[in-house]
Amino acid sequence: MNNKDLESVKSIVRNIPDFPVPGIQFKDLTTAFKDPEALQIMTKAMADLYRDKGVTRVVGIEARGFIGGAILATQLGAGFVPLRKPGKLPAEVIQKSYTKEYGTDTIEIHKDAITADDVVIIHDDLLATGGTMLAAYELVKSMNPKKIYINFLCDLADLHGRDVFPPEVEITSLFTF
Ligand code: AMP
Repeated sequence: MNNKDLESVKSIVRNIPDFPVPGIQFKDLTTAFKDPEALQIMTKAMADLYRDKGVTRVVGIEARGFIGGAILATQLGAGFVPLRKPGKLPAEVIQKSYTKEYGTDTIEIHKDAITADDVVIIHDDLLATGGTMLAAYELVKSMNPKKIYINFLCDLADLHGRDVFPPEVEITSLFTF
């Protein structure tokens, strides 16, 4: 992974103060997604981390995790599985509620989306407190796949989101704020 390239991607992520509520410094990744070069750099950096890991499914967290998650799945020749807000998935689901940097939420996954033969990456755009990803991790873990990796495009170091996960969980992030 070329750190200089990733630093250039980081530098074009737009910061929006007090969105969606006062006190939050919102990292707007749309400025990086719309830039063709930045999108290529993020795509390659993500895929390089997992090329030889035998990944069979990438789980993307609604909604911003769908973007990078689908890209990563395509790059790795894996399938894509959406983790969605309640009531959106049409077949039988399992669900989990959690707290995040602002507010609480629930996520759902189709019961048959992951099997014991799968090697899974769970992807989201940003790690803040870790509440969202921890819920996703516990949901996917309850489906007993062979292995679960966790990947973010970026993380907020001050919120120590990594600390909520068991130490053995392999977590990667392309760049840190
Ligand atoms: P958390 O559960 O606190 O780690 O929050 C992570 C989720 O909320 C991710 O899906 C992010 O898209 C979103 N999020 C939380 N904080 C921010 C932030 N400061 N900037 C952008 N997105 C955020």
